[in-house]
Amino acid sequence: MIHFDNSYARMPQGFFARVSPTPVAEPGLMALNEGLARRLGLDAAWLASPEGVAMLAGNAVPAGAEPIAQAYAGHQFGGFVPQLGDGRAVLLGEVVAPDGVRFDIQLKGSGPTPFSRRGDGRAWVGPVLREYIVSEFMHAMGVPTTRALAAVATGETVWREQGLPGAVLTRVASSHIRVGTFEYFAVRGQEDALAALTDHVVARHYPAANGPLSLLDHVIARQAETIAHWMALGFIHGVMNTDNMSVSGETIDYGPCAFMDVYHPDTVFSSIDRGGRYAWSQQPQIAVWNLAQFATCLVPLMGEREAAIEAATKSVHSFAPLYQAAWTRRFGEKLGLTEASDAQPLAERLLTLMAQQRADFTRVFAGLADGSARDEFLDRDAFDAWHADWQARNPDADLMRHANPLRIPRNHRVEEAIAAAVAGDMAPFRTLFDAVTHPREARPEWVRLADAPLDEQVVRQTFC
Ligand code: AMP
Ligand code: MG
Ligand code: MG
Repeated sequence: MIHFDNSYARMPQGFFARVSPTPVAEPGLMALNEGLARRLGLDAAWLASPEGVAMLAGNAVPAGAEPIAQAYAGHQFGGFVPQLGDGRAVLLGEVVAPDGVRFDIQLKGSGPTPFSRRGDGRAWVGPVLREYIVSEFMHAMGVPTTRALAAVATGETVWREQGLPGAVLTRVASSHIRVGTFEYFAVRGQEDALAALTDHVVARHYPAANGPLSLLDHVIARQAETIAHWMALGFIHGVMNTDNMSVSGETIDYGPCAFMDVYHPDTVFSSIDRGGRYAWSQQPQIAVWNLAQFATCLVPLMGEREAAIEAATKSVHSFAPLYQAAWTRRFGEKLGLTEASDAQPLAERLLTLMAQQRADFTRVFAGLADGSARDEFLDRDAFDAWHADWQARNPDADLMRHANPLRIPRNHRVEEAIAAAVAGDMAPFRTLFDAVTHPREARPEWVRLADAPLDEQVVRQTFC
């Protein structure tokens, strides 16, 4: 049994539509995250029972849940869409964990809502398992992120150019409030709603903030940390639209996301990102662009307009130095260095060498602690020269081992696990899940999962 306490469902009318998940033909539990269940104070055995699986599939709404689809707007690839909203997700409700932390329990792929437009409200197994594994890896590395509690097969076919097996993801987040949630009310000129949303977000995520400008500063600081952490893992979100940017600072809406194998700053995987707007190296600038939209939403709440614009602009400009400091700290840790003046030039030199020689991002950094990084370079002299300068700074191996995962959810391994799952074999998924959620632990059976893809294994494009 779950005790729900649904603060968002108590928000004013217009924030959401009440909607029930659409039952599915044949629910089957594919994966259950027992560690997360414990963290939430939920009974994993109950979740795995027929009653629990019925809830996770959307076939039964448990007592105390108040399912809603949340309204939001968003800038998609720079173009504003005044109404998006949860088109294939339903927020079942919120739970308060034993330590007092509040979490949303959301079903993704649970059927149509009033915000579905032409969509079917469904998801197929591929993106559900990708989000499950990638979000849990991010959590294991300490990146703020939504999490995955369960994946349930629906026994139904979803049409995406071809027929594919359907699934529902149970997603857990500290909230699902997005920059686009603020844009939804701002574009409608609903200042009362904006003020209520601001109060809700301050109380829920930033109790130390006082007022809209202070909230903006807090969100900017949180996002600077999150994006720097993405960069340090070679992570490319893929669709950094404002509706996919959480005000909590958590990574959200994993779609055609991916980690780089070979390092290059311009790397893009998403099939829908033709112009490279959301390439790896673009992510900090895009964050600023998104945060400027957020700031614009808050200006009407900030008093006299000219002064408000000036203060909001100043706040948005604070992202760059905050991000730079976070980047230098993260890449410094990857090199085992704590002095920014050492870390930044050495990290930049190494990345330049890696790009020139198409070195594998994860393997180079993981190999610094044990000396195997050199093998990733063809021009050993250039690497050796860098290495000597780096060693002269006395890097701390423990710091490096903590910052650098031995393995990541490599695209080809994720696709392999998805293909096996579709064929009815969950074993590769389970192995990959265990391996990437213990990313710093060495085990003989996991060694192959750290290998870079062979040419014929390289995944060049990802799809949502
Ligand atoms: P996304 O790109 O997944 O973040 O989604 C952008 C918008 O499209 C959101 O409003 C989603 O709810 C909606 N959407 C995406 N896929 C579907 C679908 N299969 N059915 C209904 N709505 C969807
Ligand atoms: Mg989205
Ligand atoms: Mg290589």
